[in-house]
Amino acid sequence: MAGPGRVILRILVSNDDGIYADGIWALAVELSRIAEVIIVAPDREQSAVGTAVSLRKPLRVQEIIPLHPGIRAYSVEGTPSDAVIVALGKVIGEKVDLVVSGINQGSNLGEDVLISGTVGAALSGYLRGFSALAVSCERQRFSADYLSEVSRFAALLAGRLVAAGLPSTLFLNLNMPDLPMNEVKGLKIAGLAHKSHVNTVEEGHDGRRSYYTLVRASVNRQVDKRSDIWLAAQGYITITPVHLFLNDRLPLAVLEKLISGLFEEFKR
Ligand code: MN
Repeated sequence: MAGPGRVILRILVSNDDGIYADGIWALAVELSRIAEVIIVAPDREQSAVGTAVSLRKPLRVQEIIPLHPGIRAYSVEGTPSDAVIVALGKVIGEKVDLVVSGINQGSNLGEDVLISGTVGAALSGYLRGFSALAVSCERQRFSADYLSEVSRFAALLAGRLVAAGLPSTLFLNLNMPDLPMNEVKGLKIAGLAHKSHVNTVEEGHDGRRSYYTLVRASVNRQVDKRSDIWLAAQGYITITPVHLFLNDRLPLAVLEKLISGLFEEFKR
């Protein structure tokens, strides 16, 4: 939604792989064909920090020499969410039409959305009232040619998202399947797969003391056939609308039953 008197679109681009990652620049270059692009991103890799924000430390912001001419870029000593919040609060201000995060090196499917810094950055824009798009692809496909094709796709979607003039903002999580782009089957709207990952704990010893390592394994390919993990495995690009409230789908009746008489019990 361009404000009055402002016709040029403006897109904030961030990520969690750091400001010098190939994915963010490929994406920014394609987006710069349809909008003024400003990159505000963490100064280093920050994967799997989710929507973490830094409340007790100064967030230093530095304009960097862009890797592509004409794209302003600022690095932030903070998390992906810090970068987006600082960008919208100070560096750019609120005159932004869309927040795009990525391209992440590694897909963000199913319950990944809860820990992904890529999704976290986009979500931080969404939570502040902007439409947002997170873009991720499979780790092993990270060649320059592939990234530019994914970027072109993401930019098409971004252009439509802005042009649609939607009545409310939207947050979309976009993932590429593990295929060359010319072998991709198509595009599907997908749900989030549940029970998609499992965290296990492994024990180690460094010679002085023992420690634990959290291991996050992707499990369960037997997910719902409308879910992102299933459809990605079938070779589709997936778009998953993620809602603001994680409890959106909880049937109210279940919750009502759960809390029925609770207060009375407390008062007794
Ligand atoms: Mn990452």
